[in-house]
Amino acid sequence: MRILIAEDDLTSRMVLGSVLKKSGYDVVEAVNGAEAWEIMKHDDAPRLAILDWMMPEMDGLDVLHKIRNIQSDNPPYIIMLTAKGEKTDIIAGLDAGANDYLSKPFDTGELRARIGVGVRMIGLQEELVRSRELLIYQATHDPLTGLMNRRAILDRLGEELSRAKRQSGFLMVGMCDIDHFKRFNDRYGHQTGDDVLIEVSHVLQGSLRKYDSLGRIGGEEFLAIIPVNKKIDTLSLFNRLRENVEKKVIETRKGALSVTISIGVACAAKDSNADSVIKAADTALYRAKESGRNRVVLNESCNDTICMAVP
Ligand code: GH3
Ligand code: MG
Ligand code: MG
Ligand code: MG
Repeated sequence: MRILIAEDDLTSRMVLGSVLKKSGYDVVEAVNGAEAWEIMKHDDAPRLAILDWMMPEMDGLDVLHKIRNIQSDNPPYIIMLTAKGEKTDIIAGLDAGANDYLSKPFDTGELRARIGVGVRMIGLQEELVRSRELLIYQATHDPLTGLMNRRAILDRLGEELSRAKRQSGFLMVGMCDIDHFKRFNDRYGHQTGDDVLIEVSHVLQGSLRKYDSLGRIGGEEFLAIIPVNKKIDTLSLFNRLRENVEKKVIETRKGALSVTISIGVACAAKDSNADSVIKAADTALYRAKESGRNRVVLNESCNDTICMAVP
């Protein structure tokens, strides 16, 4: 682990440096506050910093203030060094966000122990950040396919609708549902059904651009959100998705299988909200199913100027 020592006094800097190096840390040195800030302002700054209080150009307290003004999930652990060891300084430092302090001249045993505390705190904090990220991931992703889950894709739809309105763009929304999937499960088993869900999600994802979003909105239903900034041939676009699924030979534990999907498409208009768009796509999907499956049906919302077939 890298540790910054910001200390203008050469002797003190050398003693600190040698103790830390002996304990196995990589030491980064700064001889004044400005240098310390120059090092600490970057994303990959050392995770632990020892800041002397009295330094030329910028004192330790100013550096501390600047560091604490950076918004970060993983703020560095900071130990203030004070020659005076005065209570008021210590209070000011802790108030400004220092994690600990050391009075000069320091005892090397105490220094090692306090650095050890800092390293443990950093480890705990990193673990906390990791488990929070994992929780957020789990709350927004479908465990089977790894796609956004229902809540996340509906949130994304709301965001994309606002963005489309702001930027005068268009939004195509396709509700994609695997045909006769219940029959498929009954015939080949639920696990094979799961294999197919995963493969279908890959095919759909692979058919979309990076600006598009795909989520698993229900059991065998996927929602594709496609923002566009010019008129496009919506029917062809979704037919390509449908054909890619139809063509895909899926290797499963029960052999090579394939499925088809039906897609109901809605196009967002100025007064659309997430509910109305989903409802429109669902209505179109219902018609696609009724009229024979393995097809794309556009909702009436698609027949105005925004997403008619481009000649
Ligand atoms: P339709 O063509 O009208 O959509 O027929 P369908 O059988 O696909 O539709 P229905 O809604 O009757 O059944 C959906 C089936 O999807 C029911 C269930 O067996 C299956 N399913 C839902 N979630 C999962 C899942 O996570 N894994 C598996 N293997 N199957 C699932
Ligand atoms: Mg000093
Ligand atoms: Mg289905
Ligand atoms: Mg369904």
